[in-house]
Amino acid sequence: MAQQAHIGVTGLAVMGRNLARNFARHGHTVAIHNRTPGRTRDLVAQFGDEGVFLPAETAEDFVASLERPRRVMIMVKAGQPTDEVIAEFAALLEPGDMIVDGGNAHFADTRRREASLRERGIHFVGTGVSGGEEGALHGPSIMPGGSVESYAALGPLLEDIAAKVDGVPCCTHVGPDGAGHFVKMVHNGIEYSDMQLIGEAYDLLRHVGGLKPGEIAEVFRTWNGGRLESYLVEITAEVLAHVDAATGRPFVDVVQDQAEQKGTGRWTVQIALDLGVPVSGIAEAVFARSLSGHADLRASGRGLPGPQETWLDSAAHDRFADDVEQALYASKIVAYAQGFHQIQLGSAEYGWNVDRGAMATIWRGGCIIRARFLDRIRAAYAGSAELPLLLTDDYFAEALGAAQDSWRRVVSTAAQLGVPAPGFSAALAYYDGLRAERLPAGLIQGQRDFFGAHTYRRTDRDGSFHTLWGGDR
Ligand code: NAP
Repeated sequence: MAQQAHIGVTGLAVMGRNLARNFARHGHTVAIHNRTPGRTRDLVAQFGDEGVFLPAETAEDFVASLERPRRVMIMVKAGQPTDEVIAEFAALLEPGDMIVDGGNAHFADTRRREASLRERGIHFVGTGVSGGEEGALHGPSIMPGGSVESYAALGPLLEDIAAKVDGVPCCTHVGPDGAGHFVKMVHNGIEYSDMQLIGEAYDLLRHVGGLKPGEIAEVFRTWNGGRLESYLVEITAEVLAHVDAATGRPFVDVVQDQAEQKGTGRWTVQIALDLGVPVSGIAEAVFARSLSGHADLRASGRGLPGPQETWLDSAAHDRFADDVEQALYASKIVAYAQGFHQIQLGSAEYGWNVDRGAMATIWRGGCIIRARFLDRIRAAYAGSAELPLLLTDDYFAEALGAAQDSWRRVVSTAAQLGVPAPGFSAALAYYDGLRAERLPAGLIQGQRDFFGAHTYRRTDRDGSFHTLWGGDR
């Protein structure tokens, strides 16, 4: 009998090709297929000696080369192309087989696809894959959803190719149906927030601290040796140190300052609004990208009056970089806390039972938001799996307490000097919102009752109340 593949990958653009190579490098026989066969041939020609590939030019040959139960991983464009590829392969599969979608699908699509394939006895596993092109080849963080049964057959292969931290694979079964893609979506939302906060730290060091990009690169390098150690801080130093070959200017100054987005940050905020989760830091990060992209609006806004004061006194200036480090750390804690809150509420809404500590564990390596600090989050949930608010964990509460003076100085300095810091400000406002004994929401309830008889609840009695405002309303 001809050799059979342990797994098949269809869709051999950057992600699929590198995942297929990663499986092969780990000793798995991999069937490979792509709509345009040229990509399949290229993979074999360039990397065929890295392991055992079984190339197929038709979907039928591809499916026929897989051992049972068949594991078909699809890595194609999200949306309609994914539906088309699922339909094509589902028609060729049998009950017990698995289709694994490693693209950036919306979790609601994953739920729909899983339910439809389940009726036909086919396991559908929507899985988050983070780490980009390099991660896919050298070890991504993998977040598979789907049935427990499918994970038993698929998990060991995914764990093989995942990044490892302290020998622990950055892959675990997240939960049923769309749980994996949901968690990947929130991961990306946190990534947006993290990137925005780092961007604000750079902007403040440059425009308030008066440092040049190369000097700021050094600051980030130093920070990366401490508690802020993370992939994003590390690459920030690289980007800031980079000099444009054509002009000799700092690279960061020759790039148009309009941040683009593919949509997962926006989804995170849209779903957070549906679930009622206050992910203000992630929302500000998405809005900041959107503001940056409105070139015409910004051109007309440039003439608006700014503050008189534009510089710090020398004492404040001397401690400014340290203050920004504290503000960045505190705001980053808030960003992750908001993301984990969204996972908690999403998990409750859809009955997924997601283990948040396990998510922190699998994000420690391979993915874009990998960071030393995730070990702290893992430890917090290990101490209390149902911790309602990450910020109240002893370590984080202490870190926020120690950072808050600096954090407040940075936010107020940014406001005074007219440098936008929506991420830092939103994170601090969230923190203070949680701390507040009373919020003005009582007044808002009064307003709602006044104009719409929406009723309110009282602090001293149970029940729903309405006041007859002004007598004639
Ligand atoms: P991509 O540019 O998103 O998609 C290109 C691949 O999709 C090609 O193999 C293409 O085949 C195939 N394709 C498109 N429409 C198709 C259709 N109607 N039928 C069959 N195949 C079709 O590739 P990518 O960047 O490697 O990403 C793959 C998936 O992973 C995407 O869902 C992406 O969102 C996700 N992802 C990407 C990254 C990243 O860093 N790039 C990270 C994580 C997840 P042809 O060669 O025939 O055109």
